[in-house]
Amino acid sequence: MTNPSERIASLRASFDSGKTRPEEWRRSQLKRLQAMIEENEEAFNEALHADLGKSGFEARMTETGTVLAEIGHTLSHLKAWMRPDKVSTPLSNQPGHSQVVHEPLGVVLIIAPWNYPVNLVLTPLIGAIAAGNCAAIKPSEVSARTSELLARLIPAYLDPDAFQVFEGGADVSTALLEQRFDHIFFTGSEAIGRIVMTAAAKHLTPVTLELGGKSPCIIHEDCDLATAARRVAWGKFLNAGQTCIAPDYILVQEGVADAFVEQLGKVTAEFFGDDPKLSPDYPRIINERHFDRVSGLISDGDITMGGETDRSEKYIAPTVLTGVQPEAAVMREEIFGPVLPVMTYRAIDDAIRFITSRPKPLALYLFAKSGDIHREVIERTSSGGACINDVVMHLAVPDLPFGGVGASGMGAYHGRASFDTFSHARAVLTKSEHFDVPLRYPPFSERKLTWL
Ligand code: NAD
Repeated sequence: MTNPSERIASLRASFDSGKTRPEEWRRSQLKRLQAMIEENEEAFNEALHADLGKSGFEARMTETGTVLAEIGHTLSHLKAWMRPDKVSTPLSNQPGHSQVVHEPLGVVLIIAPWNYPVNLVLTPLIGAIAAGNCAAIKPSEVSARTSELLARLIPAYLDPDAFQVFEGGADVSTALLEQRFDHIFFTGSEAIGRIVMTAAAKHLTPVTLELGGKSPCIIHEDCDLATAARRVAWGKFLNAGQTCIAPDYILVQEGVADAFVEQLGKVTAEFFGDDPKLSPDYPRIINERHFDRVSGLISDGDITMGGETDRSEKYIAPTVLTGVQPEAAVMREEIFGPVLPVMTYRAIDDAIRFITSRPKPLALYLFAKSGDIHREVIERTSSGGACINDVVMHLAVPDLPFGGVGASGMGAYHGRASFDTFSHARAVLTKSEHFDVPLRYPPFSERKLTWL
């Protein structure tokens, strides 16, 4: 890859010219992004189908539609977000007034993964634009068709002085990370997250790390099992399980375990028919490497549902495993595929202890009627986000910040949180030149001290 320094320098020159700061410019870029999606939805659908076998419906629901909703939300709140926040000024600084001014950071780098290759490039970009930044954008080389499409469309729709796409893999990322940025927004694995944070430290660049992990899902005995199974099967088998906040594994209370697993089988057949391989709504695994990794995990338990695989089509059936040991690979690694281990627990305390003995997950799910159980689980565990009586859907509340904690990441975005992530909250005190209380100036005296 050619040295990216010239292109980054030109982004910096654009930022320094001040062109990205006016609200009108930000609005115009957001509207261009909106037009880019609306006018090319068919091309996005084709690319997503080629990369992941996503149906047009799923592409709209989780990629293009989500991005359009985020743009709409941002356009309607941008003026308010940009307005400085007034704060009170103590007597010692009167006459004067204090405010928090939201200033853009400068040139930011966005590095994206392959699993939602449109959404996870463009949603952070919306925040970067809204906050008035220039951006270098690195889509994933693994979702090659979508990466190509973004590299063609972004310069055609957005201001090329302010936004540049860099296509390629680790070599391109590595070369980019040698440059100085004002913020790095990374979505991907924990291992590469460490590399990104190490590179950022060299330039003291702040980072947002949107990582993964194993998101648990507790099924308490008093919940509506049919609803729980339907929502879990939807969230787990969406994108064939290649979703960072998919329920990774189930902890179900012993007395209802068999009934819950039976319901899972029933709803999965309702969704995808008796042979999910034939369903146009069921996606494929991204590549052979991930196919081999995920299919290797199936032997870690007793197959209670699914289990079929076909490497030539990168197909793995929606699969449920029981009889899984907590130290098995399927319970240690992030699964990131359509394999769902189901473990049982006796009392809620056991489920909570199981979760807190492991790294903090990106999401935590709980199905239960009892408000006491809701409170107990939320108070005694930690996770990036949590959703009670559903899965994945907390991501679709624009005013909820989305991000990890501990090993699942740092920082957050979506809605106002995106604007804040890509802004610096600058403290500005403006004093009057009149009335200068001489108390703080030397020479000091005992008498002055009594006023402090
Ligand atoms: P990845 O970490 O392998 O790759 C992410 C990006 O990093 C890609 O653009 C890739 O080209 C780049 N990269 C690869 N090697 C690099 C290197 N040595 N130096 C710098 N950059 C490098 O992740 P992935 O396989 O694309 O995505 C899957 C992971 O992402 C899962 O762990 C998943 O949980 C996580 N994820 C998290 C979220 C979230 O919002 N928190 C969303 C989606 C995926």
